[in-house]
Amino acid sequence: MKQSFQKAVELIRAGNVVAVPTETVYGLAADAFNITAVKKTFEIKGRPPDNPLIVHISHISQLEMLAEEIPETALKLANAFWPGPLTIVLKKKPIVPDIVTGGLNTVAVRIPDHPLTQKLIEKTGPLTAPSANRSGRPSPTRPEHIREDFGEEIHILDGGNSKIGLESTVLDLSGDHPTILRPGSVSVKMISEVLGFTISPESTDLPLKRKSPGTHYTHYKPAASISWMPSGVREFSPDIYYIFHSEISTPEAAHIHSYQKNFEGLARDLYDHYRTADHLSCSQILIESLPPSENHPLISPLKDRINRSIGS
Ligand code: AMP
Ligand code: MG
Repeated sequence: MKQSFQKAVELIRAGNVVAVPTETVYGLAADAFNITAVKKTFEIKGRPPDNPLIVHISHISQLEMLAEEIPETALKLANAFWPGPLTIVLKKKPIVPDIVTGGLNTVAVRIPDHPLTQKLIEKTGPLTAPSANRSGRPSPTRPEHIREDFGEEIHILDGGNSKIGLESTVLDLSGDHPTILRPGSVSVKMISEVLGFTISPESTDLPLKRKSPGTHYTHYKPAASISWMPSGVREFSPDIYYIFHSEISTPEAAHIHSYQKNFEGLARDLYDHYRTADHLSCSQILIESLPPSENHPLISPLKDRINRSIGS
């Protein structure tokens, strides 16, 4: 591990990319101030250039390097949720390369909650780290997922399986009102409680979608097609992969999974299920429809990611 860590430091310093563990999903890390390295990230992933990258830091004080203005709301939320799965969008300083922000005048920042990646950032400085998958594929939550997409091409800093399994909440603090651009495990309610006023959930109007270009691209897709499960399914085809969240008894099988209301478990495993369905040559994945978002903070991000993988 010591050797692998040292190699990661050297690769980043030499302008290469390295897959790094975070609590959300694995990231494809590069030096945020090295334009060539960031360009490599877009090329390797096949990521559209207008889909900006999140900059990962290891200490709140590094915000000053990146952000032109740091509102009180940003400090409150950073103190409450960092290290953790909340990304905040602020007006950027000119030093942040345009390639990082897809030409936007804002920059997205967070401190990831993983000791290895924090230690790495302490050695290298801020890192861009989009999910370490080929663009459009499910995000990687285990080292073997990265190997599936990239073979031996990418050095992987192995930090085990991602604890949360869904990408961070993205919150825009660059305008007049805090706005959720992508739901994640830090919920609207949790953010509102820290701020002391209610922020509105993600808006679907077009100008806002344009503010977070990543949200309009196809995402998280395995080869199998994904649909919400019709209610009352109790007969199982070997060609279909079934995911239940509710408290029901289902047969145990490699293609039938039941979470008994453990939404944390479902979030952690979701992208692994997408990939496993492909390995089992299942042509379809059926996911039991989720209850209303008020019931659990992970329901909103789960619905968001599943709907995007369905394509609706
Ligand atoms: P990924 O790293 O693949 O999880 O994607 C990062 C997400 O953050 C995408 O949805 C981006 O659109 C969003 N994002 C990154 N930077 C910005 C920014 N400056 N303004 C708005 N959204 C951003
Ligand atoms: Mg991604």
